[in-house]
Amino acid sequence: MACVALSTCFPTSGADDKPVDRFRQLDEIWPTPNNLRRPSGAPGKDYWQQRADYVIDVTLDDAKQTLTGTEKITYFNNSPDGLDYLWLQLDQNRYETDSHDWLTSTAPDMSELTYKGLKGVLYREGFQGGHKITSVRNSSGRALKYDLIHTMLRIRLAEKLKSGSRITFHVDWKFNIPNAKSLRVRGGYEFFEEDGNYLYAIAQWFPRMCAYTDVHGWQNKQTLGSEFTLEFGDYEVNITVPGDHIVAATGELRNPENVLTQTQRARLRQARRSDRPVMIINLDEAKTNESSKPKGTKTWEFEAKRVRDFAFATSRKFLWDAQGFRQGNRDVLAMSYWPKEGEPLWSKYSTEAVVHTVKTYSKFTFDYPYPVIISVNGPIPGMEYPMITFQSPRPEEDGTYSKRTKYGLIGVIIHEVGHSWFPMIVNSDERRWRWMDEGLNSFVQFLSEQEWEDGYPSRILDPARRAPFISYLSRTRKLPIMTTADSLISGGYNAYSKPTLALSILRESILGRQNFDFAFQQYARRWMFKRPTPFDLFRTLEDASGRDLDWFWRGWFYSTDHVDISVKDLTRYTLDTRDPEIEKPRKKAERARLPAPVMTEKNKSIEKLVDRKPELKDFYNDHDEFAVLPGDRKDYEKVIKALEPDEKELLRTKGNFYVAEFENIGGVVMPLFLKIEHADGSIRELRLPAEIWRHGDRVISKLIVSREEIRSIEFDPQDELADVDRNNNRFPRLPREKVFQLQKRKKEKNPMQKARDAKKTEE
Ligand SMILES: [Zn+2]
Repeated sequence: MACVALSTCFPTSGADDKPVDRFRQLDEIWPTPNNLRRPSGAPGKDYWQQRADYVIDVTLDDAKQTLTGTEKITYFNNSPDGLDYLWLQLDQNRYETDSHDWLTSTAPDMSELTYKGLKGVLYREGFQGGHKITSVRNSSGRALKYDLIHTMLRIRLAEKLKSGSRITFHVDWKFNIPNAKSLRVRGGYEFFEEDGNYLYAIAQWFPRMCAYTDVHGWQNKQTLGSEFTLEFGDYEVNITVPGDHIVAATGELRNPENVLTQTQRARLRQARRSDRPVMIINLDEAKTNESSKPKGTKTWEFEAKRVRDFAFATSRKFLWDAQGFRQGNRDVLAMSYWPKEGEPLWSKYSTEAVVHTVKTYSKFTFDYPYPVIISVNGPIPGMEYPMITFQSPRPEEDGTYSKRTKYGLIGVIIHEVGHSWFPMIVNSDERRWRWMDEGLNSFVQFLSEQEWEDGYPSRILDPARRAPFISYLSRTRKLPIMTTADSLISGGYNAYSKPTLALSILRESILGRQNFDFAFQQYARRWMFKRPTPFDLFRTLEDASGRDLDWFWRGWFYSTDHVDISVKDLTRYTLDTRDPEIEKPRKKAERARLPAPVMTEKNKSIEKLVDRKPELKDFYNDHDEFAVLPGDRKDYEKVIKALEPDEKELLRTKGNFYVAEFENIGGVVMPLFLKIEHADGSIRELRLPAEIWRHGDRVISKLIVSREEIRSIEFDPQDELADVDRNNNRFPRLPREKVFQLQKRKKEKNPMQKARDAKKTEE
């Protein structure tokens, strides 16, 4: 590490007047490339990662809202290291009464506490959450020694797990499912009072192998609420639920003949060939199912290959639709599951949005590699797992909905399904870097939304959402994008909107679409089913685009600076022809243009001494200093004589020489996009690369040669670069435009009037 504190490495502008090298290379703070991670940003020949396969049997108790499971884990040690112990994560322990997440939570804003907020606090106080581990044993059934360390479990191995070998062991467990309507969770249940049914969205539910990596060894970040990274592996999961439940899950259903009706299976076959969603369970059927009484249980068997996690949803309330489509060389089945409360929005948009997402993301990255992709409506606001996503938006009870709900639903489906790529396949570590999946995913979500319809109200384009975000960028209380997940403040702006905006600017205004898209696709393909770090991303985008972008990462990802570039000044230079016949009259005219001093005007009427005594006048009283004298002409001839022919030509150059001055107020250097308006109304546009700032980090100037007279210069006329103060973008300045409203003060009744009114009502 070259620097102790970020502020030393990345001073914000205005700290002092020492020059800052905005283009200083980042190699000095990036990890040294090796044979696992190359300087190009690609994985190297020695790249390795671990693997974990699971066979899980799990049973839902719908009456008690508990899950009980037994799992067999086969862990492959592909690392070059021998392992003395193994770590598993028990994310449910986040809901234990003494969890660090709960103990370190701070007080809510008591002045704005809602009924729902207080209900949540009281529920959390009383909830008996957490994994109860009932057995950890090896493949021959002998108990393994283990320790519970908060939200992680350490198995002490009797013998070192050698490099290149594998171990199989079993874990039994159970836990109480949290009420997702009372607690902010990523998996839980929703209870519908009207019909007495439950809907479960189950995630982060079984003990999962922690990641062991070439950059950090074993994961040592306990769950404080941030997401996770895991190893890829194959899953066989058998889910036992009440006999009238419908289950949606990661992977392919292996036993449809045991759990689906003949009609449902026929409709699914039809859906595979349809270019519209086909209802597998329609509204009427779902309403009937709601009042059914379960007869025994059914076990749904799922299989998923090469995924990093497994989630499922189950309820008797589900409507269900499906649509098959071709992606690359694979048949994919898109499906949605929702309760009747999701109508009419869900049947109209969910599966369509899922298919749209898979097609657009595949175009910008790589073809979706799994057989199914699912969207489930339930209590979870928005969360992704391999092949399955949860999202909560629903219409009002009367079936109407706001514009915000409509686009909120489409947007969150695109977002969560988009997470299939980042981080479910491009497996970045969410617990360390939230922006690596949220930022990249929100960026591709933006591209996908813009292919949904013209003017789609995306987070960085919709004026109502853009304005507060742009003002956030110049806030002083914020952290760089390169901040670890648990420490983020204003995470929505920091990890989602800001990277989206930055990448969008990089694509549209710095690299150009073609060059950016090529480089971005390289990153996605290189790290598909692997685990990239931020440095692998930065390096790949530079290596594949042929541009040193260290300045861009410095400004946008490592600093809290913002874009505010001012057109500070504009000076017109006119070439001195040295010809007295031209220059003297010009100087005379210049003098005449100077305003006459006020007192000179006022003193005109006073009789002057030399008028009374003309004998005091001499040569200078009538001398015209701008008159061309024979000596002037001789001097000029001398000058001309000494010039080469091309120099004489240059002296006759017509035109205006303008020097424009630009000030970098915000700190982030950006290209200079200039709109130059001439006196005759014509427009000239200049696009100067950001590297112009290598000549000065605060103020730089540019010579603009122009035949026409310049009336104004505007920086970033199309608002491409997210300048936070557009008022100083133009020279000369224009007034700021604002609207004000008149208010009428309401007069409050005095106690006498109130008493009189009360008496009147009594009568
Ligand atoms: Zn997300």
